[in-house]
Amino acid sequence: DKLPGILADGKLTVATSADFAPYEFYEGEDIVGIDPEIVKAIGEKLKVDVEIKDMDFNNIIASIGSGRADIGAAGMTVDPKRLENVNFTDTYASSTQIFLIKKDSGIKSKDDLKDKTIGSQLGTVGNEIAEEEFDKVSAFAKYPDAVLALQNGKVDAILMDKTSAEKFLAANDDLEIMEADYESEDYAFAIGKEEDEAKEIINKAIKELQDDGTIEEIVKKYK
Ligand code: GLN
Repeated sequence: DKLPGILADGKLTVATSADFAPYEFYEGEDIVGIDPEIVKAIGEKLKVDVEIKDMDFNNIIASIGSGRADIGAAGMTVDPKRLENVNFTDTYASSTQIFLIKKDSGIKSKDDLKDKTIGSQLGTVGNEIAEEEFDKVSAFAKYPDAVLALQNGKVDAILMDKTSAEKFLAANDDLEIMEADYESEDYAFAIGKEEDEAKEIINKAIKELQDDGTIEEIVKKYK
């Protein structure tokens, strides 16, 4: 049987932003991580090829709208604001926002950040919250540039997802995480608004990969 919509050409083009370990990052020339592996497992199930396209996070949703990509797989939060432009598959993971700070910053609580500059990645939930809650916000296209700005004192904290912040910590011993009381966020794949049939097929594959333990195994591998 012919697959519907974006799946019909036998190829799933996946937009990501490979600066977000453990979900997507470069290992040499290859983009690896939880998202690429789950998407490849979905591709194998549906017998479609998977092509990963790296871009700035802020361009992912537009790339789905323009047809440059079929889905977005980038630790994307099911953010109601995004539903105007894309739909989301069922969720496969979750995380929460934290502040990445310098160990010697003396920052102990959100109150200490009041007059400080908050770094964030363009187009993310972290950026959205920072813009709502703080006067001085600096947005970067890529996380490594935000982390460099933190280390250089150009920003005082980065508001970002905890799972990825933990990987930046592991690679930079001058940094630490300050927890905050933000709600847990669900990750899902973004997909075009007109792709309900393809979405249901992908959701079924996600469910099978959850039920047989594949997704859990992939997550454990990259923890
Ligand atoms: N989960 C966050 C969001 O969807 C951050 C994702 C990311 O930076 N890759 O906005």
